[in-house]
Amino acid sequence: MATVYFDEATRRFSKDDTPAVDRITLDIADGEFLVLVGPSGCGKSTTLRMLAGLEPIDGGRILVDGHDQKGVRPRDRDIAMVFQSYALYPNMTAAQNMAFALDNAKVSKSETKQRVAEAAKILELEQLLDRKPGQMSGGQRQRVAMGRAIVRNPKVFCMDEPLSNLDAKLRVSTRSQIAGLQRRLGITTVYVTHDQVEAMTMGHRVAVLRDGKLQQVDTPERLYDRPVNTFVASFIGSPAITLVESGVREGVASVHGLDVPLDRGLASRAGERVVVGLRPESWHVAESATDGSALPLTVELVESLGAESFVYGRPTGAPDAERVTVRLDKRTHLTVGDTVHVQPNRDELHLFDAASGERIEA
Ligand code: ATP
Repeated sequence: MATVYFDEATRRFSKDDTPAVDRITLDIADGEFLVLVGPSGCGKSTTLRMLAGLEPIDGGRILVDGHDQKGVRPRDRDIAMVFQSYALYPNMTAAQNMAFALDNAKVSKSETKQRVAEAAKILELEQLLDRKPGQMSGGQRQRVAMGRAIVRNPKVFCMDEPLSNLDAKLRVSTRSQIAGLQRRLGITTVYVTHDQVEAMTMGHRVAVLRDGKLQQVDTPERLYDRPVNTFVASFIGSPAITLVESGVREGVASVHGLDVPLDRGLASRAGERVVVGLRPESWHVAESATDGSALPLTVELVESLGAESFVYGRPTGAPDAERVTVRLDKRTHLTVGDTVHVQPNRDELHLFDAASGERIEA
């Protein structure tokens, strides 16, 4: 077990390029499950590979348990990687694949056997130890890849999209298995994914990256409730938050022409441009549609998920305005082309500066 500290860690693939990883500072606690998330190309894998020693560092430092990893070879780092591709040896059995790193590290035969048996038990692989990868399903291969990391009893697990080759159902069950396993083993884990649902359900904390820069690192709840900017607000949450640019006047902002009162602390921002953010659950159907206090939406799409449905629409008569997403309960029956009058829940408004995208606190 170990702490991990990225101290302005930077990776630049060529001198002229902007850095792929740009002065990332992250303090990861012993036993923590930290998820790195962000869109394709934002630098997640490179950050992870720098920690594992598979990618050089061009600036800053990475410390494991307080020790600078500069010059420490990957195999001497005591960090186990689990990749998306599993990278199992096809001609070896599951047991041999798991034992391989220990054989190389000159661990005794009896200890290797014991560690493989323990890992197989934890991962429910006992019946499959004699099978080769070609004779196993994707999920089983993925568990062998996990087993290979576990037997090493490393200081840190580095996992790079380990679930992306699994089908949707298996992903859901395997993600809770990995999270549960990590809790039991208590091994510091850095986990890369582009899937925000995976990030939110697995991580103790989630670090959101964009263009090589760390945007926010926080618990899943805080990321959702208090995103620091419009990028984080729209990346986290599904369906995505509705963001509407607006002017501020006399303590109100306007969402598609509908006045929304702002906290008193924001009154001084009169004349400024802001972005109002409202999550799908931050709306309700208006009781009275006639007094001008509700926004009429023309429904463009309804997604019924059983317990709830998501309605996507645009302000009636404004087909070019930003689309608004509203969560409604299953008793509200709407179809495409209907008009529904909705009101925002006042206390659930997110406000951002229109120029910088930064969150505005009252
Ligand atoms: P994905 O989710 O698509 O895997 P990522 O967030 O993991 O993306 P990285 O693989 O870390 O992103 O890549 C970050 C940036 O660095 C990208 O712009 C990528 O093109 C660039 N990059 C990665 N590896 C190299 C390399 N070996 N040489 C040059 N550029 C690279």
